[in-house]
Formats: sequence, structure tokens, C-alpha cells
Amino acid sequence: MKRQQILITNDDGINALGLSLLAQSMSEVADVYVVSPELERSAMGHAITMHKPLHATPVTFLEGVQMAWRINGTPSDCVKLGIEMLLPEKPDLLLSGINHGSNLGRDIYYSGTVSAAMEGMFLGVPSMALSYNGDDAEGLKWAAEFTKTWVFSANFERPPKGILYNVNFPSVSQGIPSQMAWVRLGRREYANDFHKRVDPRGREYFWLAGRAQDVTEDTGTDVGALAAGFITITPLHMDATAYHLLPEKNRMEVPSWPKR
Ligand code: MN
Repeated sequence: MKRQQILITNDDGINALGLSLLAQSMSEVADVYVVSPELERSAMGHAITMHKPLHATPVTFLEGVQMAWRINGTPSDCVKLGIEMLLPEKPDLLLSGINHGSNLGRDIYYSGTVSAAMEGMFLGVPSMALSYNGDDAEGLKWAAEFTKTWVFSANFERPPKGILYNVNFPSVSQGIPSQMAWVRLGRREYANDFHKRVDPRGREYFWLAGRAQDVTEDTGTDVGALAAGFITITPLHMDATAYHLLPEKNRMEVPSWPKR
């Protein structure tokens, strides 16, 4: 039987441990291609590069990985290039991660990890963002192994068209979780966002150093369920329309047309 083709990317860069551990796990059971930013590109959101050339440089990666490239661009660039130019065929699945740090609530709008999965979804590839609430090797390894087992288990269903899965793993310092929870996005607030300092030339500057301060929330949300030790899965789609504000009669006359 033909092995599944899996595209693996991230936003922490080609040298990140979470990326190589995920590629290692998945390459035991699938054909793995890695396309990753050459530098860390966390919190890039969905940025793409249009005004400078992109280079896809083949790199020696792990044994067992089919091909790997580093890109002088963003996570979304990696996914676009990977799917449209580099891979021999459209992959069966895209995995973005494993990110060093969780992506909860409104993080999804800043996260390069989630945006890479979103780009995969846009291009018609079932896509998942995978984030671990920590950066210890043991936990990242566990999350990678878990992903392999889960994705190849009988009850796994790939995200349907137009949906991506945002998956968060709790820190293994809380113990190995035994349950997964399907949850909605919660609220995540950040404290001490900007540090104000003075540079050697006497000019003030600001440095963003936000620390997440999660509001205590019920376990129906990603914030609450992750804190309670669940692996969380949030299906996301991109339609941000506030449907309840769309009037039934959806055409209006312009109130007063300016006279010429
Ligand atoms: Mn990251």
C-alpha cells in the first residue's frame, strides 16, 4: 500500500526540536517532506513574501525523511512553495509544529503555526496545527509520538474541507494526559505587554514581552481544557462574519447621495 505523503512545517524554524521530533515520528509510518523557515518566524501571522525572491535550499535532515528544504520566508511561504512547487504531489496531510508553546484563543490570529495550517487548508490539503505547552524535549517527543499514533489510529478523521484542526498538548510535567477534548476557542489575555527602555543614544524604545495570563475558564474552551490537562482540539474555519448582525433585508438605499 502506498504510504501517505505528509508535509511538515513550523514557525520555529528548520532547527527547532519540535519539528525534527515530529518529522522523525511521522517518517516511521509515512513519506515525510519538510519545508520550514530558515529562521524562527513565530508570531508572523499569515504574512507572505512578495517583494523579494524566495530561495528553497535543500538541507540534509533526518534519515527517513524524503526531502527537506529551508526557506528564507514565512510559514505561509513554506506551505505555498511546498505544495505548489517542491513536493512531487499534493500531500495527504499537512502538520504544522510541533510548536514550542501553546496556541490558544486569540493566539490563532498571530500564530505562524496556525497560519501555516490555514494556508494548507486554503490549498485544499487537510491540515493541523500542533502546539505543545512548553519546550522540554521529553514533552515535545511525547507530543510527536502521540500525533503519529493518533493520525494512524482507526478513529482519526482528517479535517474536512474548509476546516483545520488546532491541537494543543498540555505540559507533561502535569502528567501524561489520558483524554482529548473537542473545545471552542477561549480567552487568553496577556500582561506586561511592552517594556519601555532607553537605547544607548538616549531614545526610548519598546519591547514586547507579553506573558499569557489565562482567565480561568471552563473545560469547554481550549484555555480551560488545556489547563485541566486535556489534549485540546479546536476545529477552525475562516468565516469571521458576524451572522447575527446581517439584517434579513440586506440591501439599503444610500441615505443621501452627495450632489455634484
Ligand atoms: Mn513558534
